[in-house]
Amino acid sequence: MSSIIIPKNLDIGEKIALMSEDAKFEVGTDGDAESTAILCASDIKAKPALPKIPKIYVASKCIFNCAYCGCRCSREERGNYYNTPVDVAKMAVDMAIRNGHGVFVSSAIYKNPNYTQELIAESVKIMREQLYYKGFIHAKVMPSADPLLIAKTGQYANRLSVNIEVAQSLGYNRIAKQKSKEIILTPMRSISDQILTAKYEGNIFATTQTTQLMAGSTNEDDRTIMRLSNALYDKYHLKRVYYTAFQYRYEAKGYENENLKLTQTPYWRMARLYQADRLLQLYGFTPDDVTPDESPFLQEDIDPKAAWALRHMAMYPVEINKADFKTLIRVPGIGITYAKRILEVRRYCIVTHDVLKKMRVPLKRSIYFITCNGKYQGGNMLFSPFIRSTLTTGSNQISIFNSLTVDEQLSCGE
Ligand code: SF4
Repeated sequence: MSSIIIPKNLDIGEKIALMSEDAKFEVGTDGDAESTAILCASDIKAKPALPKIPKIYVASKCIFNCAYCGCRCSREERGNYYNTPVDVAKMAVDMAIRNGHGVFVSSAIYKNPNYTQELIAESVKIMREQLYYKGFIHAKVMPSADPLLIAKTGQYANRLSVNIEVAQSLGYNRIAKQKSKEIILTPMRSISDQILTAKYEGNIFATTQTTQLMAGSTNEDDRTIMRLSNALYDKYHLKRVYYTAFQYRYEAKGYENENLKLTQTPYWRMARLYQADRLLQLYGFTPDDVTPDESPFLQEDIDPKAAWALRHMAMYPVEINKADFKTLIRVPGIGITYAKRILEVRRYCIVTHDVLKKMRVPLKRSIYFITCNGKYQGGNMLFSPFIRSTLTTGSNQISIFNSLTVDEQLSCGE
C-alpha cells in the first residue's frame, strides 16, 4: 500500500469528534453478541444490552451523495479527515482494547470503492499482523467492491457488512442516487459465497455478514421489509439485518424534488421490526405470518406475536400439557425459554396454572390462550377486544424506546 497518498488533514481530537458524528449514520455495532432484544411487553425478551463497539473511519468525505448521510460529497460545511491504514489500525486496536468487545472499521467512499476497500483491508491486516490484535473486527465492504479485496478484508475480519439501505430498488434514486441494487447485492453475494467456501474448505475468512436497512425511506410497508429481510437471510445467509429509522437530517443538494422532509420514520417502528425479525429467525414465523397481505403494517401498540395470536384465535386455547414446542412458542407470554422449561417440567408432573405461576410464566399474557389439564381461566376469551387490551404495550414503554440512542435501541432488539 505504499502507493496510497493521504492528504494532510485534521488533528486527532478533531477526527475523533467527527468520527462520532459519522458513526450515527450506521447502526451495525453488533459485536459478537447474537442477542439484540425487544424492550416492549413481549415473549422476545430483552437480554443484557449489547456491548457498544467503537467505529473507526478511514475517511469521511465520500464521492457519493446519499441524502441521509453526513459524509456525502455535497455537504461542504464541515471539515474532513483521512487516516492512513497504520493510523486506523493503531486507533482501532487502542479503542478495541479499551472497549473490550471489538471494533468496527468503516469508511466513506474515498476516491473509489476499491481504493477504499484496499485501505480497509490493509488496516485490518496491520491490526492482526503487526499489532497482534486477536479480538473481534467488523469491517465494512464498499458497494461494488472487487471480490479479491473482499477476500483480503475477510481474511482478517470476523464480520463483514455492506448496507442495503432501502427496502425497494426505487429507493436508491430517492435517497442514494449513486447506489443501485446491483452494486450492493453483488458484494453481498460475494461475501456469502466466500463465507460458505471458507467454511467448506477450512480457510480463514469472516464467519458472518450483516446489513443495514433504513425503514420508511420509500414509504414502504412492513410487509415489504419483512419479505426482503427473509429473502436476504435465505439467499445470503445474513446473521442480522439491522433496522434504522429513516430520518432526513440535513437539506441535501440534489434531493430538492424528493419531498424527503415529509418522510420521518417513527422510532417505535424499529422495535416492532426487530421483534418481527426475531420471529422469522428464531420462532419459525414467515413474513406472511407477521405482516399478512390484509395487515401489511406492524402495529404500534401490540407486538407482532400477540397480533398474530389474535388473528388466529381459532387455534386457541392449546393444552399446555400436550402442545408441542412449535405450538407453545406461538402462545403470547411463552417464549423459547419458557417453552423448553414447560416441556422439561411435563416429564415430571402435570402442569397446572399454579405450576406455571411458580415457573414465573407471565400468565397475564398467556392465560387467554391455554388450558392446563383441561382447565381454562381466561374468562370469555371470545371477546378478543378485551384480550387485545391486555396484550398492548403501554405508551410509556414506547416512549422509553424512543428516548434511547440508536445503539441502545439496537440492544432492545431480539
Ligand atoms: S456511500 Fe456511504 S458514506 Fe458515502 S454518502 Fe452514501 S452512506 Fe455516506
